[in-house]
Amino acid sequence: MDSKNPGLYLHIPFCLTRCSYCSFYSQTDVSLIPDFIGALEKEMEMAGAGFSSPFDTVYIGGGTPSVLSPRQIERILAGIEESFRLCRETEFTLEANPGDLGLSFLRSLKNLGIHRLNLGVQSFDPHTLNFLGRRHTVEEAIKSMEAAREAGFECIGLDLIYGVPGQPLGLWRDTLSRAIAFYPEHLSCYELTLEDDTPLGESCRRGGVSLPGEDELLQFFLKTSEMLEDCGYIHYEVSNFARGPKYVSRHNQKYWDHTPYLGLGPSAHSFSGSARWWNIRSLPGYLEALQSGNLPIEGKEILTREQLRMEAWFLALRTRKGLYIEDFRSQYGEDFLSCNSEILKTMQEQGHLILEDGHLRPTRTGLALADSLARI
Ligand code: SF4
Repeated sequence: MDSKNPGLYLHIPFCLTRCSYCSFYSQTDVSLIPDFIGALEKEMEMAGAGFSSPFDTVYIGGGTPSVLSPRQIERILAGIEESFRLCRETEFTLEANPGDLGLSFLRSLKNLGIHRLNLGVQSFDPHTLNFLGRRHTVEEAIKSMEAAREAGFECIGLDLIYGVPGQPLGLWRDTLSRAIAFYPEHLSCYELTLEDDTPLGESCRRGGVSLPGEDELLQFFLKTSEMLEDCGYIHYEVSNFARGPKYVSRHNQKYWDHTPYLGLGPSAHSFSGSARWWNIRSLPGYLEALQSGNLPIEGKEILTREQLRMEAWFLALRTRKGLYIEDFRSQYGEDFLSCNSEILKTMQEQGHLILEDGHLRPTRTGLALADSLARI
């Protein structure tokens, strides 16, 4: 087990409606929420063994955690306190749908100790929201951002999506401008990717709609990075931007630097430093496992040293912090620079990578190529 403090992720598997592009696990029968919370409490009691260091982040995602009532969220937080050791400065994040957020709900979340609120805004264009099957409106997104500020949230993150079929670059720039005008502390700008088993993925496979090509997507990516960095944001990971170092997501950082994390709830994934395991991707199956006194684990993979080595540099090069060459050498006994000298020289000459303070760091165009780096 790594000595770095692990993170705790809770997957809330409910959404009031399903968005047409989404492949995350959730279902719409909210009458099962009380059963789910009971099962989650059991899972919390059982699952902590093996994580000896205290957790320093708690991320409540999904699904749509904001479909829960403040009382239900309070009960989940109490379960966390009872079952896990937490650091004093633990970062608490909650994902929310802008359509759910009245001022009194937001004040309750703030009083419960949620520090970071991630709003699934996705777009400030009503047609794009409609196309994506989002249930909230532009007006609700704006109201929820204002209400979150009024409730006292000092770290508000907005999730936005680009590369939507038929979305011109200008429309995306408008969405970014409106987001910047609010000056959120954090922005996640994701390229739309479609799994075949989603309605939009299915429509794309049949030729009903088509995603933008690689060159067009590159323009979206570069424009996003340029606009946000010009406004003072740090582009610290392929899709993530923070208004200053203190607003970088400590929880998400764990996924990129091999820090262990424990995921609870249907479909949640966990990582111990050398193994990865994942929960059953079905609420009935999850409930049944816990009612029978078993952890709801569906599968487990022990990672080889070679897999860990590959992941370590690949994930590091998705972040602006980059790969610390000396750390990599002491962990894997390999001089990354000399072992990959030719390709790295080419990428440095093309301006995609720089070597700085012992770190190999991607530039803006390097971040754009992060996925193709896997082919090194
Ligand atoms: S995108 Fe979010 S709100 Fe939409 S179905 Fe997926 S998890 Fe639910």
